[in-house]
Amino acid sequence: MRWTNYHGHCNYCDGQGRIEDYVIKALELNMAAIGISSHAPVPFTTDWTMPGDKLQAYLHEVDDLKEKYKGQIKVLKALEVDFIPDVLSTAHESISSGELDYTVGSIHFMDQLNDGTHWAIDGPADEFQLGLKEIFEDDMKQAVLRFYELTREMIRTAKPDIIGHMDKIKMHNKTFNLFDEKEQWYKDEVRKTMALLAQEGVIVEINTKAFYRPELLFPGPEHFSLLKELNIPVTINSDAHHPDKLINGFEEVAQMLKEAGIHHLHEFIDGKWQAVEFEKEGILL
Ligand SMILES: [Zn+2]
Ligand SMILES: [Zn+2]
Repeated sequence: MRWTNYHGHCNYCDGQGRIEDYVIKALELNMAAIGISSHAPVPFTTDWTMPGDKLQAYLHEVDDLKEKYKGQIKVLKALEVDFIPDVLSTAHESISSGELDYTVGSIHFMDQLNDGTHWAIDGPADEFQLGLKEIFEDDMKQAVLRFYELTREMIRTAKPDIIGHMDKIKMHNKTFNLFDEKEQWYKDEVRKTMALLAQEGVIVEINTKAFYRPELLFPGPEHFSLLKELNIPVTINSDAHHPDKLINGFEEVAQMLKEAGIHHLHEFIDGKWQAVEFEKEGILL
């Protein structure tokens, strides 16, 4: 049994290590496939997205490694693409011209601060609090509603293959207790969004990046039964920013999915996404 990971970074963005370091580690772990999905460039400055002038080199480097390791491991060319209305999406020419194997679509930005800066929702706590105050007058419910509204707009207008960390907006809840995830309005938003994902056939990743610290999954295990009920395609991704994190928490999460009645993961095989049975040790290839 072998693992795959379709969401991972490298030193072209905020990941540590060269792309090849991730491929070598994946080979050591006997993985069947490794997808490289750096943060796509955005047309403004951040300290975590790929600079725009590095995109072509990135695409070529993944192509070269794909060729170099052919027959040993499947190396896949992808990007994690932000959805920023009128600014960037998977439909943007800079993305569609990259001949990617697939895309991960994620919401990291929501609207703009008073000085015009795009507000990053998964940054440091002080940045989060500033945006919450300036854009939403400290009304967390409105911020959460906006997050899911943007998510659904992304699915409708620039559908990615995989949706990245679909309930990321809860990230700061663990520390600040900003809203109650058990309230009906919140459950309704998640269900509405999941229903659209199901309808559009978008794969929901179980993002394990924070599984051990601070013990978070995106989406959280409380939503696994909904994934099952709506028959949503699922895969397990580590969102690795270091080669040592390639299969972070996979065994535990696989077990949790099985307990929720989910028995297939979506895997990229022969150029298309296919449902494959799995055990807690990996997929049955
Ligand atoms: Zn992300
Ligand atoms: Zn990521």
